[in-house]
Amino acid sequence: MDETPLGRIMAGIYIHIPFCYSRCSYCGFFSTTELSQRSIYVDAVLKEYQLRTDYLPKGEPVRTLYIGGGTPSQLTSSDLARLLRALPVAEAEEVTMEANPSDMTEAKLRAWQQMGVNRLSIGVQSFDDGMLAFLNRRHGSKQAKKVIRLAQDLGYTNISIDLMYSLPYQTMKRWEADIETALSFGVQHISTYCLSYEQGTPLWRLREKGVIRETDEDLANEMYACLCQRLKEAGYEHYEVSNFALPGYESKHNSSYWDGTPYLGLGAGAHSFDGKSRQWNAENLHKYLRDIMNGKVPFRRERLTATQQYNEHVMLGLRTCQGIAATDELVRKAQPYLSTGKLRIADGRIIASMEGINILNTIITDLMRE
Ligand code: SF4
Repeated sequence: MDETPLGRIMAGIYIHIPFCYSRCSYCGFFSTTELSQRSIYVDAVLKEYQLRTDYLPKGEPVRTLYIGGGTPSQLTSSDLARLLRALPVAEAEEVTMEANPSDMTEAKLRAWQQMGVNRLSIGVQSFDDGMLAFLNRRHGSKQAKKVIRLAQDLGYTNISIDLMYSLPYQTMKRWEADIETALSFGVQHISTYCLSYEQGTPLWRLREKGVIRETDEDLANEMYACLCQRLKEAGYEHYEVSNFALPGYESKHNSSYWDGTPYLGLGAGAHSFDGKSRQWNAENLHKYLRDIMNGKVPFRRERLTATQQYNEHVMLGLRTCQGIAATDELVRKAQPYLSTGKLRIADGRIIASMEGINILNTIITDLMRE
């Protein structure tokens, strides 16, 4: 594989599409319902790309493109086509679009396919209509199932679905039913999210008022264990704490985040990494549009010290099934966890076991440098 001037493989491009038709009750991500700005926003993203072409090594092919949000499926097909035509992604190995089931029609799925989209990440979250309504998702389970089937019938061969657990009112039985429904489709990839209560969200307010209770930790751990077990039995590789893939279908784009490969992030709120520093664009639609149109990218940057780079490597590496190289320093610090089976060493690498994953944040903190 080619390497960048930094000596690393260039991951690719991430584009943030911050528009959502409505807001989900748990959502703490940067997004906006100002849909009237979508086309202008695409103009701005293209201009940002022009302003930042030097971020990508010259002549280097882009391996992956990931369009996330927000809700990228809120883009019109013509705006998406403009984006894809202008970016150097014709040879990309993986072009992912996040899709909200409510937006997806046969015509849109066909159009995306023709434009080169070869991986779908469908925001299913749950196949339980009660849960979906509680989360204020726009779609119902019938619609999600229909979109998955339609995409499969149209020849999409790399489909990921998102599932959420540890939701209020979600029993083990309801969670198991979600897992079984997901497995019945034989999709290539499943990403899971344990619900977190983000300050200021409707869900957070309900918890503050005592209307809902957070799922207790034992049940959340049990749900996670059940997920890992069932997906393993079904042939999925648990390649990252929250991600499972049939062999060969690990997300190339996200895998590069976890192994510290550089990438360029375009759009309001998008993050970039060049191997030595992280930078993030302003999470403000109007500031982003105004600044970009004035030829300036509104971003902040943090240069990572050697210690920060090391700690990131530990933090991201331990989340993956490949773990991190078992250096003397790490083996010494990891001793309490190695002796209790929360970490293990295989092929010279330290890897977290299931028990270790349940307390991963504590382990990571103990293995970091000060
Ligand atoms: S669709 Fe995604 S980004 Fe938009 S409100 Fe819902 S969770 Fe947030």
